[in-house]
Amino acid sequence: MSAPDDLYLRLRRECGRRADELWQVARALHDDPELAYEEYGASRLLTGVLRRAGFEVEQGVAGLDTAFVARTTGGPGRCVALLLEYDALPDLGHACGHNLIAAAGVGAALALHAVLDGIAGAVLAVGTPAEERGGGKVALTDAGVFEGVDAALMFHPGVHDWSWAPLTAQTQVRVGFHGRAAHPTGDPLGGIDALAALIQLFNVMAVSSRRLPPGSHVQGIVTDGGSATNIVPAYAEGLFGLRAATGTELDTLVAAVGTWSEGVAAATGTRAEVTRLGKGYAHFRPNDVLTERFSRHIAGSGIRLTDPAGGVFLGSSDIGNVSNRVPAIHPFVAILGEEESDHTPAFARAAASERGREVMLAAAEALACTAADVLTDAGLSARAWARLRDTDTP
Ligand SMILES: [Zn+2]
Ligand SMILES: [Zn+2]
Repeated sequence: MSAPDDLYLRLRRECGRRADELWQVARALHDDPELAYEEYGASRLLTGVLRRAGFEVEQGVAGLDTAFVARTTGGPGRCVALLLEYDALPDLGHACGHNLIAAAGVGAALALHAVLDGIAGAVLAVGTPAEERGGGKVALTDAGVFEGVDAALMFHPGVHDWSWAPLTAQTQVRVGFHGRAAHPTGDPLGGIDALAALIQLFNVMAVSSRRLPPGSHVQGIVTDGGSATNIVPAYAEGLFGLRAATGTELDTLVAAVGTWSEGVAAATGTRAEVTRLGKGYAHFRPNDVLTERFSRHIAGSGIRLTDPAGGVFLGSSDIGNVSNRVPAIHPFVAILGEEESDHTPAFARAAASERGREVMLAAAEALACTAADVLTDAGLSARAWARLRDTDTP
């Protein structure tokens, strides 16, 4: 590795001596869980810690009150962003462990700040709200927050020790069918049943979905199924969540939903109206140049990361949008066994457990060392950028 070993040692020491403070941050977030876009307390707590350490803080970026960018610089050079998530889940609190993501990212940022005079470059700690709903990183990416950034680094607690996250692209499509209202028995030939058409679309999906490529998936709900049993529904509407391994495959799936809907409309005498709701989340594009570094560094804490199990796709996350713009990492580090799952009460407990503390600290150290590699090693950074361009599958 290019960064001298004593730099890694110093970074680990800087993280270690802040262990109690970082754990207090993680616990404070855990004790006061805030939902997407409402993370005012978390944002205040984290920017306070960073400001006191000497970071310059811009609060409220990309039109999001609870997003922030904290910046420190040791002179001209490359720029690394540590991504902090801190939103919680309704009813379950920190059942996705974002309190640990924030504490580890802050720990790495503080450690780098302490040694930065010696290595130059800039470090950003970026507060990225609303991962669970809405996607703060989508807005931050679109607002240009990652322009000039050479690497975006974070870890996510999980039930696997995986060096990267197989996260799919995701969007929603609304399908409305227009039919004709009539009394179902008074005028049995006059009505055109829009709800019947929508039900046929679900049937077509059940059959056609079997032939989708790995990673592609459709899940639908009925959002409007008519208003009364003595009126043939003139309008019915469904909302569909679509996922695919890449953005291109997602576009193909959106087109397929359009084709299926038109086919059903032709068969039932209705008119279909298909609307894609926003761009959605991009798929995660792993950067093995940086991933390999993080894996090597966290192995120093006794945690062995492997590639994800083949053919497995998890959910979707707004880190996808960042990873398509700059070299990025999103490893999973287990705080619970593989038989468990996140988004559960057990996972929320693990996010405040002794194992959670150990993983947070190990991740902070590995993030700091990986960031130092990017700042000190021009060749590594160039290879990470080249890898992003090589794997240019939108
Ligand atoms: Zn989650
Ligand atoms: Zn999460």
